[in-house]
Formats: sequence, structure tokens, C-alpha cells
Amino acid sequence: MSDQLRSSRNERPEQTHATEESALETARRQLHRAAAQLDLDTDIVTRLEQPACVHEVSVPIERESGQIEVFTGYRAQHDSVRGPYKGGLRYHPEVTRDECVGLAIWMTWKCAVMDIPFGGAKGGITVNPKQLSAREKERLTRRFTQEVRPVIGPTKDIPAPDMGTDPQTMAWLMDAYSMQHGETVPGVATGKPPSVGGSVGREEAPGRSVALITRSACEHYGWDLSGLTVAVQGYGSVGANAARLLDSWGATIVAISDVNGAMYDPDGIDTESVPSHDEEPEAVTTYAETTIPNEELLTLDVDVLIPSALGNVITQENADDVSAGCVVEGANGPTTSGGDAVLEERQIPVIPDILANAGGVTVSYFEWLQDINRRSWSLDRVHDELDAEMLAAWQRVRDEFENRDVTWRDAANIVALSRVANAHETRGLWP
Ligand code: NAD
Repeated sequence: MSDQLRSSRNERPEQTHATEESALETARRQLHRAAAQLDLDTDIVTRLEQPACVHEVSVPIERESGQIEVFTGYRAQHDSVRGPYKGGLRYHPEVTRDECVGLAIWMTWKCAVMDIPFGGAKGGITVNPKQLSAREKERLTRRFTQEVRPVIGPTKDIPAPDMGTDPQTMAWLMDAYSMQHGETVPGVATGKPPSVGGSVGREEAPGRSVALITRSACEHYGWDLSGLTVAVQGYGSVGANAARLLDSWGATIVAISDVNGAMYDPDGIDTESVPSHDEEPEAVTTYAETTIPNEELLTLDVDVLIPSALGNVITQENADDVSAGCVVEGANGPTTSGGDAVLEERQIPVIPDILANAGGVTVSYFEWLQDINRRSWSLDRVHDELDAEMLAAWQRVRDEFENRDVTWRDAANIVALSRVANAHETRGLWP
């Protein structure tokens, strides 16, 4: 971490912040922040504040007990001016209509910042997936697919895994859709197992992009990767893949964690010797000589902090304690709006999720291309194309960051909004 960054952070004036926002409020505020930097038709901004459509469906299933239970499912479709809607499908007890809309807006920006020809969507079912048997989860997925069948499809809206769903869930969704369609339609969902049209390299793609963006950020700030100290919260698909790649490039991973706590070693952790969440769930601390709580991991004096577990972990309450030189967001929404404001005042750069973890949706796009062309790519090709896309997106965001003197988050949103607004201006409003 540079001395310049360290001293400027100690000079932060005392300020108060508004209470934390919902995902939808945050998405709209970020839209207006980005729009304020661009000479945009205000009517386009007004249109982008609202989703194009939110589908709410009842999903009845028979439980193992024989009783019928009815769950509520949503599919929010925000904007499709640049192509079909794209976004995850989550099974979580706190899924709401508004959360789906807010996350759909973020997906519009994520696809646009990567220049992928998709728009933003998000869906979910308000359910605790841990309380479902595998057969109940399959029935829930197939019935939800049937309910939203008219509004999804390879050229309409393409779901992907998210919290509480996985490649198997996408395989069921694809099968249910295909059975009704009369032919196999692999392009209706991404994040599927490779045996049914999934892409090699999809699983590790978000972690790979986090590592690539971290490397680019280090180059930008003049920090050498060898000796760079990194703390990673969450050792799942995103965190473990990012940590291992950075480790292989010479960085020193001093802390990794799972839901039970963090492993800490200032001399560096051999990341390959610790199983990821997928390889052995929640096992990080059992391999550790020294453990620290997850809250302490967030405050370690490291060059780069990568929160890759869940949302809302850096908040107005603890952002003052963050000692990292830079935060790279591996999870979706790990920094709350209040936390973001504190880090901005303290001049700690935050590389936003919509850029850093966008490797996931980018390889989902590659998967969709493979599905509609009926041709699989090699892992080398997936890596080469992903690396090139991430570098291009980084350079475009960095240009806005440097030219406009804004935060990295604003810079990414500006790139995304200018592409979406440009498409709206060019297409116009019908009728
Ligand atoms: P995962 O389930 O593979 O791993 C999550 C990890 O976080 C596990 O190690 C788990 O133990 C840990 N964890 C859970 N609760 C925790 C807590 N309270 N404190 C500390 N650690 C905790 O999940 P993932 O796929 O790596 O996703 C992580 C984040 O990245 C999520 O926010 C997800 O939305 C986001 N994301 C995932 C993808 C993807 O394709 N996998 C793409 C983009 C963004």
C-alpha cells in the first residue's frame, strides 16, 4: 500500500451517512450518479429507473409429506435494448420483487460494461433451499420454469445459477423448457453442467476475472504482484479461484475464510493445499494453524482485500476499520452504500463487482454462443477470450476513471450507462 494512500485516509473528516439502502435504491442512485457525468436525454434515464417487466408467479409443489405448498417466484426484466435479458435465478428466503428489480438493473450495467449483447434480468423464489429435498428442489424448478416459460428463451431471457441454485438447477430448467418446446434448447440457460451444453471454464470464470482485474489494478497503482499481500473472504467458486490464481502469479495470500472463520498466515498460505467450498465445504479453519474471525479479516493491513463470500459485509459501521490499500469486489454487492461512502472519503479504491466478477456472465455469454452454434470451445479458447474481454473492459473503465476523476464504481457505471443510453437513442421509442 502506498504511503500517500495511508496518510490521506487518516485525514478523513467526520461525516454522517444516510441509513443503508435497498438494492433497488442503490441501483437507482448509481444510475443518477453516472447520468450526472454524461450529457444524456433525461427521458432515457427515466425509462431506465423502471424495469421493463416484473413477472410474479405462484409455484405450487408437492412436499415429501404429500402436502401442497405454494411459493412465490419472480423474474424481473430491466432492459433489453442491447439484447436478450440475462441474469441469475436465486432461491433464498429473503427474495423480494424489489430485490429482483435492483439486481436486474445491476445486470444491465454488468453486461454493458463487458460489452456483451445482453440486457439485465434477475429472478428468484422466496424459499429456504436448505429446507428442500433434492426432489422438491427439482419439482420447484420445473414448475417455476413452466410458469415463466412464455417470457424466457435463448432470444428472450436466459437464466443462470445464483444463490441457492447451481448447475443441476439449470439442467432441470433447460430440460423442463425443452420438454415443452419439443426439442432440446440448451441456450435457454447458462451455467449448466458441460454434459448438457455447459461451457468448460464457466465455474472458475468469476474468480479468474477477479484475479485478472486485481492484477490490472496493481499495475495501475504501480504495485508489484510478487509480495503483494491479499486477504480473501469466502473460499468458494469466486474466492478460491481468485486466491489460487493470484497465488500462482506470486502474490502472498495471507488470509482466506469460510462461514466458520478465517485462516491467517502472514508468511502466505499455500492455497492449493486448502480445499475450496466445492471440494470440501466449510473446511478452511480445520486446515489452519492460526484462525481469526471473518470480521478481523476485513480489517487486515493488506494491499488488496477481496470480499468474495456474500453481500453487505463492508458497511458504514466497519468501513473505517478497513486497512487494505484497495478493495476488489468478488461477491455481488459486498460494500453497502454507507460503506462505499466511507471508503470514498478515505480514498481507498473499490473496484466494483460489475467489473471484477463479470467473468461469470462473460463465460455465460460464451456458453450461449456455443449452445446456439452447437459447437464447444476448448478451455484454452475460453481463457484466451475471457482474458481479452476483461482487459478491454478494464481499459475502458480506467479511461473514464482517469479522465473524469470519479470512483471506479462510477467509472464502470458511466461506461455501462453510456452504452445502454446510446442504444436507446439509436433505436428510439416505439410507437
Ligand atoms: P460459494 O457458495 O461457492 O462460496 C461461498 C463461500 O463464502 C464459502 O466458502 C462460504 O463458506 C463462505 N461464506 C458464506 N457465508 C459466509 C459468511 N457469513 N462469512 C464468511 N464467509 C462466508 O459461492 P460463490 O459462487 O463463490 O459466490 C460468492 C459470491 O460471489 C456471491 O455473492 C455470489 O453472488 C457472487 N458471484 C458468484 C458468481 C458465480 O458464478 N459463482 C458470479 C458472480 C458473483
